[in-house]
Amino acid sequence: MSGILVVLEQRDGKLHKMALEALAAGQQFGAGLGLPVFAAVLGSGVEQVAQSLAGYKLAKVHAIDHELLKDYTPDGFTVALKQLISAHTPSYVVFPHTYQVRDFAPKLATSLGRVLVSDVVGHRVDNDSLVAVRQLFQGKINSDVRFEGEAPFLLSVQAGAYRADTLESGSAPVEKVTPELNPGQIRTKPLELFRESARAVDLSAADIIVSVGRGIREQENIAIVQGLADALGAELAASRPICDNGWLPMERQVGSSGQTVAPKMYLAVGISGAIQHLVGMKGAKTIVAINKDPEAPIFEVADYGIVGDLFQVVPALIDELKK
Ligand SMILES: Cc1cc2nc3c(=O)[nH]c(=O)nc-3n(C[C@H](O)[C@H](O)[C@H](O)COP(=O)(O)OP(=O)(O)OC[C@H]3O[C@@H](n4cnc5c(N)ncnc54)[C@H](O)[C@@H]3O)c2cc1C
Repeated sequence: MSGILVVLEQRDGKLHKMALEALAAGQQFGAGLGLPVFAAVLGSGVEQVAQSLAGYKLAKVHAIDHELLKDYTPDGFTVALKQLISAHTPSYVVFPHTYQVRDFAPKLATSLGRVLVSDVVGHRVDNDSLVAVRQLFQGKINSDVRFEGEAPFLLSVQAGAYRADTLESGSAPVEKVTPELNPGQIRTKPLELFRESARAVDLSAADIIVSVGRGIREQENIAIVQGLADALGAELAASRPICDNGWLPMERQVGSSGQTVAPKMYLAVGISGAIQHLVGMKGAKTIVAINKDPEAPIFEVADYGIVGDLFQVVPALIDELKK
């Protein structure tokens, strides 16, 4: 193949939001390196979701279909992808840095005798090879990573690092691939999917996020910001002190030790914009900040800023939205 293979995550025939971001990354790598870009989706009955990719500028879409891939297992996905990679020898294999990818991609890389460069936030092309950019020390430092040795080179891209709305259209053939898989190769038995708690949430899939910080002062006041989230149809998120205090569950924390999110709009209420918070949300398409301190660092990344007291601004916004 000697191209770029982008492995896309789907569930029940629906692509993960980050899948198209990885595809956009793949297209940009391909454009820079002069390599064709291929996509692969895995599952059972995935032809339809594969067809939904036929309108993008891709050399081919592989629909890797097998009854044993119906439910995700690290063994099944690794065996199937290893077969595709061995048959087509792509130079680069690109994944979205989803929870599922974190689970199986290191195993796949090891089974190929390679490493996975994870959580890539950017790239450049140097002497016909890709230099990946990764963040260190909670985003304080960017590091360049070169791939050495033999292809394929595997990497995963961070949520929000590449934008799906930059995807180039085209027309791609879809090819069904049936991997050789037998039940004996799969050592785990998937049970029903569940979320850890009833309120668990995958913030990386949210279009609008309203996020609350220490400016809210007390737990009881969270209801005010929840009201704004409800009025916008948004998910509620928070900075770390809010979750450390137990005012909101940990799964709603955004930042270097929380979730990385890339919604269409991120509204930061009473959040200062510490680097550990910014690394988790600066990929949002539009950032709105409400803060009483005009010097707060959050305004450096904000597209729109309201300098004011959140206890006045938020109720006024809710009133306007309700109108
Ligand atoms: C290893 C490590 C990992 C970390 N990981 C994370 C992480 O994942 N996520 C994270 O968020 N943080 C993380 N932190 C913590 C981070 O450094 C900051 O301490 C934290 O983000 C600050 O949260 P905050 O903005 O809510 O609070 P503060 O920094 O206290 O900011 C509160 C803001 O509210 C404003 N404000 C106050 N009252 C009002 C009002 N009435 N109206 C409007 N504005 C008001 C203030 O002007 C201020 O800007 C981490 C720290 C470390 C060391």
